[in-house]
Amino acid sequence: MEGTPISGPESGAERPILLLGDPRLRIRSEEVVDFEQPEFRGACAGLAATLASFRARHGFGRAISAPQIGVALRLIAVNLGDGPRFVVNPRVTARSAESFTMWDDCMSFPGLLVRLRRDRSVTLRYHDETGIECEWPRMELAASELLQHEIDHLDGVLAIDRAIDRDAIVLREVFERRKAELSKQVDYMIGDPTKS
Ligand SMILES: [Zn+2]
Repeated sequence: MEGTPISGPESGAERPILLLGDPRLRIRSEEVVDFEQPEFRGACAGLAATLASFRARHGFGRAISAPQIGVALRLIAVNLGDGPRFVVNPRVTARSAESFTMWDDCMSFPGLLVRLRRDRSVTLRYHDETGIECEWPRMELAASELLQHEIDHLDGVLAIDRAIDRDAIVLREVFERRKAELSKQVDYMIGDPTKS
């Protein structure tokens, strides 16, 4: 992807991640207009630190949105294994005709898995953290589903809202027990290259 890597986690303090039921997860976040604004700069540092800490503790976690730390700005921190980057004011400008199903999870309800449908590929226009306009064309599937999840957060939409049917929300401990069976219900499993 484009955009410059940001400074390390030492540049901000970890913030608590809001959990399901907190009304701040349901707010539609505002566009970032002033890239020098202290609230925005602080949110960038806080998001990067929070993502790094979650990854260190849990061994997973590829992205987090500003609303998840209580900041109602259209800002996402992403780490696909090559260091954290920021996606600001993202807009989906194209979608593939093809979609797929998967079991999704979320740092705001780490105990749940949700079966839902996402577009196989999207093209994104966004700003980096300095305000430069960037494009992320025709994302591959793993980045595509991740960014669709995070952009939903900016609109106050959660993965549970997209549950395909009444059997599509499962407790993680049950999911782990029934994984072989439940994986057959979807086209793609996060982190499983044999099921993409
Ligand atoms: Zn989430």
